Amino acid sequence: MTQLSDIKGFTKPLAANLGKLGISNIQALLLHLPLRYIDETHITAIRDLRINEPAQAEGEVVHAEVIYKPRKALVARLEDASGQLTLRFLHFYPSQIATLKVGAKLRVYGEVRHGFFGYEMVHPTFKAVGVATEVPETLTPVYPTVAGLAQSSIRKAIRIAMKQGDLTETLPADVYAGLKLPGFGESLLALHHPSPEVDLYALEQKTTPHWRRLAFDELLAQQLSMRKHYARRRSVSAPQFMPSRQLVSALLKNLPFALTAAQQKVALEIERDLTQPHPMQRLLQGDVGSGKTIVACMAALQSIENHWQAALMAPTEILAEQHYRKMFTWLNPLNITIAWLTGSQSKKEREFALAAIAEGRAQLVVGTHALFQEAVQFKNLGLAIIDEQHRFGVHQRLALRQKGQPEPHQLMMSATPIPRTLSMSYYADLDVSVIDELPPGRTPVATKLVADIRRDEILQRVREACLQGNQAYWVCPLIEESEALQLATANDTYTLLQEEFPELKVGLVHGRMKPAEKQAVMAAFSAGDIQLLVATTVIEVGVDVPNASLMVIEHAERMGLSQLHQLRGRVGRGANKSTCILLYQNKLSETARARLKVIYESNDGFAIAQADLQIRGPGELLGVRQSGVPMLKIADLERDVDLLETAKSMADHVLQHYPNNVERHLDRWMSSAGEYVKV
Ligand code: ADP
Ligand code: MG
Repeated sequence: MTQLSDIKGFTKPLAANLGKLGISNIQALLLHLPLRYIDETHITAIRDLRINEPAQAEGEVVHAEVIYKPRKALVARLEDASGQLTLRFLHFYPSQIATLKVGAKLRVYGEVRHGFFGYEMVHPTFKAVGVATEVPETLTPVYPTVAGLAQSSIRKAIRIAMKQGDLTETLPADVYAGLKLPGFGESLLALHHPSPEVDLYALEQKTTPHWRRLAFDELLAQQLSMRKHYARRRSVSAPQFMPSRQLVSALLKNLPFALTAAQQKVALEIERDLTQPHPMQRLLQGDVGSGKTIVACMAALQSIENHWQAALMAPTEILAEQHYRKMFTWLNPLNITIAWLTGSQSKKEREFALAAIAEGRAQLVVGTHALFQEAVQFKNLGLAIIDEQHRFGVHQRLALRQKGQPEPHQLMMSATPIPRTLSMSYYADLDVSVIDELPPGRTPVATKLVADIRRDEILQRVREACLQGNQAYWVCPLIEESEALQLATANDTYTLLQEEFPELKVGLVHGRMKPAEKQAVMAAFSAGDIQLLVATTVIEVGVDVPNASLMVIEHAERMGLSQLHQLRGRVGRGANKSTCILLYQNKLSETARARLKVIYESNDGFAIAQADLQIRGPGELLGVRQSGVPMLKIADLERDVDLLETAKSMADHVLQHYPNNVERHLDRWMSSAGEYVKV
């Protein structure tokens, strides 16, 4: 496809800025659709302007000055035959002062309100006009953009794209016959340059036929892509594992607990998949603490009993180490050899592990990202298990897949629940198992919202809990702008809390520590040698210390809801009544308040993810990178649910009758969609 930088009119900086929006070719640019529109198609006489409504006026500047009270502002009076209008700018450049001089003819667009001197527009857009400057014939689109990329530049770029791009249909007309929707090119034109007669409300709600046409195309592309993934999987062979006869029952016999019904159900689903001649691609979802690890271990044993190696990969060293120790306790009595592989090992340890993996002596390999490095050669990898799969990119997942010949089965685990509507569409190439109950004997975590000014009370509470033999986490605020600042905050908090609690053993763990140091701290906390653990969000995933029953999270309002829920899941793992205290800065915004309310009221990871979805949108929740299937840019699964149904049945129709058109349709829609993986 033509790259933007090869097209006349696209300078390097323009192409680079569009690149930041994920737009690298002309097709993607065509599908970069407006957020909203402004109506500059007619001019309203100043006398007829209406309060609180955006409008366009035109006139001559009769007065202009920079005032300094009550605050610095550039103020001008615009006059037409019917009256006067004040223009007010609180931020302005010298060039704007030059344009807004007495005698200038201006066209201004903005929202009108009552000012001190009558009608006023604050920060209107404006331009100098000549005697006969025409008004545009269509509504002016406002596009999503990035800093440094002006609306006028995007508009110009899209005009070029509309002339040079491919606006033809990718599929025969009968695909659209039942829908009565306009054509592709016509729809694009109507969305980029709508006529002023259009129903603006419907247009901005994306419910006009033109929007629906594009939404349908997008959904259809998504369905086609999923079916291709699915068909690929059916065409690939994988080793077939008989259900385990010995190892799994030996494991379960040694366990100090019985599996929950939900664990048994998902274990059976996985067991069945592994008997199939095609690679399993199963996502095991379960709330924090629902007991996914033991289920994964059972799957590994099925592979091992069939003389194939299994691998378990975790996103952090802390978590991988913890898995390793757990697997060791469970599997050592069964005489299973486990290898351990991370980036922080000594060369000797690493070579030893690599040899054991290559020769097949290592029956199970536990590790971090180090597992899919090139030097790692398995003798026969039969099952790859990926914990906290949303932490890995789709390419990393694929890399592990390529470590086996034939393709290994894959089990992915996640505690970040994906609401059902999403899992059906984004994860349609995966089968999903859900552990929907927690092991018995857990007392739910009590959540408290406390304003930061009551910090002293909280400190007292931490002291009491620790002196009574419990353990506590103190989670430092997330500082997204700067990792260095985050680190400094963690160090400061650590020092302060050490001073505050001379009678307690306080520890610190953060993402920048050497893995060995991190492990030492976590081990000391696990063993109870540390009572209060100051931590950055590195403890978010998977760490399991049952005796920890109190958690304080600072600046909770800065964190994502699912993240808070995961953090909170670190406590409430033992028999003790657990509490999670969310400290917030006073003066919460409306949204921050709504979000914290959700986490306060709900202990249900699915409900929380659903709320997160509503507040932040699916991109944030899944991360475009992680989903493996492109995100929807136009369609909305709730609003366009009828189109989704049609797209599902039409996808089959297209594959059956027009298989040769599929690639073209996918190219149009998928080439612009993040990390789309061609199969
Ligand atoms: P997660 O699903 O968050 O990964 P884990 O697998 O770490 O959860 O399990 C959390 C804790 O619960 C572990 O200590 C684990 O040994 C324990 N556990 C798992 N299943 C059960 C069960 N059926 N009954 C009691 N405890 C269990
Ligand atoms: Mg886990």
